[in-house]
Amino acid sequence: MLELDTTIITPASVFETSGHVARFADWMVKDTKTGDVLRADHLVKNVLEARLAGDKEARGLAAAPVVEDKKKKKGKGAKAQAVQLADEVVAEYETILAKLDNYSGADIGELCRKHNLRNPDTGNEVSEPQLFNLMFASSIGPTGQHPGYLRPETAQGHFLNFSRLLDFNNGRVPFASAQIGRSFRNEISPRAGLLRVREFTMAEIEHFVDPENKRHERFDEVRDIKLTLLDRHIQEAGKSTTTEMTVGDAVDKGVIANETLGYFVARIYLFLTKIGINPARLRFRQHMANEMAHYAADCWDAEIHNSSGWTECVGCADRAAYDLSVHSARTGHPLIVREALKEPIVTESEVVEWNRKALGQKFKQDGATIAKTVEALDQAQLTALKGQLAQGSAPITSADGKTFTLTPDILTIEFKTTKQWVREFTPNVIEPSFGLGRILYTLLEHSFWSREQDIDRGVLSLPPLVAPTKVLIVPLSARVFDPLVKEVHAKLRKAGIFSRVDDSNQSIGKRYSRNDELGTPYGVTLDFASIQKRTMTLRERDTMEQRIGGIDEVVEVLIELVNGSMDWAQACERLPAYDGVQAVE
Ligand code: AMP
Repeated sequence: MLELDTTIITPASVFETSGHVARFADWMVKDTKTGDVLRADHLVKNVLEARLAGDKEARGLAAAPVVEDKKKKKGKGAKAQAVQLADEVVAEYETILAKLDNYSGADIGELCRKHNLRNPDTGNEVSEPQLFNLMFASSIGPTGQHPGYLRPETAQGHFLNFSRLLDFNNGRVPFASAQIGRSFRNEISPRAGLLRVREFTMAEIEHFVDPENKRHERFDEVRDIKLTLLDRHIQEAGKSTTTEMTVGDAVDKGVIANETLGYFVARIYLFLTKIGINPARLRFRQHMANEMAHYAADCWDAEIHNSSGWTECVGCADRAAYDLSVHSARTGHPLIVREALKEPIVTESEVVEWNRKALGQKFKQDGATIAKTVEALDQAQLTALKGQLAQGSAPITSADGKTFTLTPDILTIEFKTTKQWVREFTPNVIEPSFGLGRILYTLLEHSFWSREQDIDRGVLSLPPLVAPTKVLIVPLSARVFDPLVKEVHAKLRKAGIFSRVDDSNQSIGKRYSRNDELGTPYGVTLDFASIQKRTMTLRERDTMEQRIGGIDEVVEVLIELVNGSMDWAQACERLPAYDGVQAVE
C-alpha cells in the first residue's frame, strides 16, 4: 500500500470531472415562514421517530419520559407526544424509515405533504426539497481567477496521481494507495459532537484491481469471519432485519459483489473490533440503488450503534472504473494498465487498407466521410463489400445519405490474423473510507462503563493498543521510591511503552480509579517489598486483578501485553496472584 499526501485546495475542474460539482449534494427543505434550512431526510426521520415514540408511550410500551433539562435550548428537535397511531400507520412509518436513504427529493416532498411533516422547531410547513451542494467553494490565485474547492474526500488526490502510483508498482495491479487527511463538507445540520462536522479526518484506501479478476489473494484468511449484514433487498422491502453470514458465504452467494470488496469489508470488521468496537453493535449495511454515490457500483457501510442510533463510520465502495475513466477522458491522458500477455490474443478479421492518395484525388473533401463510413461497418458488411470490390466496384452510402462508388484502387480488404501481446484495461477501484472522528467517538461510548459496586467509578476499557497511556506507575509514597520509579519508567520507555507516574498523595485506590477513567490498561505498584525483594505488583484495569513478580519480569510481561503478543489470562499464568499485606485497593 503506497502512502500519499495530496492537496486540500483543488482546482474546480477536478470536481467538475469527478461529478462532485453536479452531484455531491443533499436534499434540503426550508421552513416556509422562518427560512430555516433542514436536511430533508433528517426531518422525515426525526418527525416519524418522534411520532412512533409517542405511540409507544400511549400504548404503555415506553419508559417514563425523561425529565427535560431546563438549561437546554428550547425548541430543538422533534418531541414525542403520547398519541396512539393506527397499526397501519405504525407499519407505514417503519417502512418509510427503513427505506429512507433510498428516497429522491421528489419522494421526500411527497412524504412531507402526505404525512403533514413540518419543521419540529416551529410547527411550520416546509418547502419542496432542493439540492444543496456540500462542497466549500474557493478561488485560487491572486486575482481569484481560478475557481476551486476544498476536497470533500481524499480519493480524487489518489486518482490524479494514478500514473505515478502505477509506476511505483512496476505497472502492475493489484496495488493500493492510502491517505489520511482532512476533508470538508458544508453539512446542512452539523451536530452530535464528532459525528457530523464540517471538517473531519478521513483515512482512505484506493485498491486498484483488474476488472476481470476481482479475486483477492488473501481472501481465504478472512473467509470464515462472521458478519452482521443488512442487504439492499431487505431495506427496499421496508425492513431492517439483519442476517449473520460469513464473508465467504456472502461472496459465494453474491450478496457481496466480489472477493476484493468482501476482503476489505472483513478487514474493516477486524480493524474496528481490534480497536475495541463492540461487534454486537456493528453491522454492515448495503446501499440501496438510489442511495449509492454517483461513482459507486456497490457500497457497504460499517454502521456502529451509539447513543444517536446506527451511524455510518466506514464506507466500503466498489467505484468500478468510474473515476479513472472520467479523468482520462477529460485530460486525454490514458489512465490504464498495460498487461504483457504470456499467450497472445489472436483475432482474425477483415482489415481495410486505404490508398489515401487515390482516395483524396478522387473524392476530395468527401474522402474523410467515406473512410468514416467504411470503418463503421461490421465484419459481415466488410466481407460483402470485399465481394463487390472483387466484381469491380461497390456503392456505399454515408450517414447523410450521399452515395459513392468505391473501386479496388482506392481500398483493399483482406482477411488477416493479428496477434495482440498486450492487454490494456482501466482498473477498478475498491475503496474503504474511514471517518476517524466517528470511529473514535463511538469507541469512547462503547468503552465507557461504571463499576457495579460504585456507579461513580467510571472505567474506559480501551484496548492497550489504542489507550494513550499504557501503564501507570504508582509508588506507595513519593521520594523513597524515586530510584525505583525512575528505573521502571526508563525500562518501559526504552521498550517504546508510554507510561505515567502518579506520585500524588492520594490513596493508591483513588489513583487507580482516576486512571481507570482515562483508559490506562495496566498499573504497577512499588512498595516496601519492591525495595527489599525487588518485586512489583501488576494490576489490570477491567478486572482489578493483581499479580506480583520481579520488577524485570513484570516489565517483560507488560511489554508483551502492550504489544498484543500476550493476553491477561496468559499473564496470570506467568505471574502469581498478589495477596500481600500491602493491599492496593
Ligand atoms: P462517505 O464518503 O460519505 O462514504 O464518507 C466516508 C466516511 O467519512 C463516513 O463513513 C464517515 O465516517 C465520515 N464522514 C462523512 N461525513 C462526515 C461528517 N460530516 N462528519 C464526520 N465524519 C464524516
